[in-house]
Amino acid sequence: MRVGKTLFGLKRTALLCLLVCGCLSVAACQKEGADAAKTQQLSTAETRDQLKEPSQSTAVEVSTPLSLQAIEGSAMGTSYHIKLALTPAQVEQKDRLAAAITGVLEDVENKMSTYRPQSELSRFNAAPIDTWIPVSDDTLKVVSVALSLSQRSQGAYDITVGPLVNLWGFGPPHHEDKVPSQAEIDTAAQLVGYQKLEIDSLNKQWKKSSALYVDLSSIAKGFGVDKVIELIEQEGIHHALVEIGGEIRSIGKKVEDQSWRIAIESPTAHERNIQRIVNINDIAVATSGDYRNYFEKDGKRYSHTIDPATAYPITHTLASVSVVAENCMIADGLATTLMVLGPEKGFKFARDNSLAVFMIIKGANGFEERFTDEFRQYLVQE
Ligand code: ADP
Ligand code: MG
Repeated sequence: MRVGKTLFGLKRTALLCLLVCGCLSVAACQKEGADAAKTQQLSTAETRDQLKEPSQSTAVEVSTPLSLQAIEGSAMGTSYHIKLALTPAQVEQKDRLAAAITGVLEDVENKMSTYRPQSELSRFNAAPIDTWIPVSDDTLKVVSVALSLSQRSQGAYDITVGPLVNLWGFGPPHHEDKVPSQAEIDTAAQLVGYQKLEIDSLNKQWKKSSALYVDLSSIAKGFGVDKVIELIEQEGIHHALVEIGGEIRSIGKKVEDQSWRIAIESPTAHERNIQRIVNINDIAVATSGDYRNYFEKDGKRYSHTIDPATAYPITHTLASVSVVAENCMIADGLATTLMVLGPEKGFKFARDNSLAVFMIIKGANGFEERFTDEFRQYLVQE
């Protein structure tokens, strides 16, 4: 059974149920099975509330009533949900802002999607080896963060894992739900290795020393969130929450006395229950899990997260991991890294790197939670 597809695929479903408490409430839950991602709105009543800027803002803003507005759409094979506190003048410009957001996300897809044959990434994947290829600032930034994560995790996180992702049926080529042969796995595994990917930041170019297929699905969505936040800030908007397919970032600490809050979903495939509610003010949170994008064969679950060390989907008991970080690109990349590392090695990695991490682990008696001290501050109730 195919429950969802990966980033930029059609059926990608969100990992987080977004519950923006306080002056608004919205769910970013997406229904399974539909061709396009669907949004489940928990409550819209509060979105009509009139808000006031908090007292620490400038004099002009204090006297300007703000209204909470929503912008929603589809991009990167999933859906996005944005909440913004806008002045009346900004409300009048909302359509223009929505179009600009679409433009920003289109641009990220045109650079980093493996689902677009003409994207910058797809063209690099098809390019000859040992040849420097010019690279955009955005892709260079994402790839350099990805490569440093590979080094820090000793290759558990590896964006060159693409041939295996595709072979296991989680990439752009259409695949039935089947376990590949060992020979196919071995052949694809030979192509994997982040050391074969080189970047030259000074001259803004990249090259591969042997055949490679780079897959940025584990990090591009987080980068897209950051780009939308950047745009929103440039528009002079101070309170916003941006979510793309479960990866989230907020700006503005509070509207009136309310924090931005989101719900971390329980990692169950066919239900949507809230595991925990967390405050996220001026911070990003990303979640990776094994419970939305997988297939089952002979009673075994094969998830879209591949362990490059085994060339197989992960087999450990970590069902979901959420990471809070200063930007969403790094939170997204780290969440995938920890998902590969699993409950023990991943938790040690989180501790060693002082990361704010929340894990949901399959235990003998149901789900067990494990979180680092750095994460505790974000939990609404323990
Ligand atoms: P989601 O898309 O559910 O948020 P992730 O951010 O964890 O999930 O990204 C999962 C995607 O990352 C997979 O679909 C695949 O394209 C890619 N991927 C799988 N294994 C790895 C890995 N070991 N390192 C980097 N990327 C991976
Ligand atoms: Mg990720």
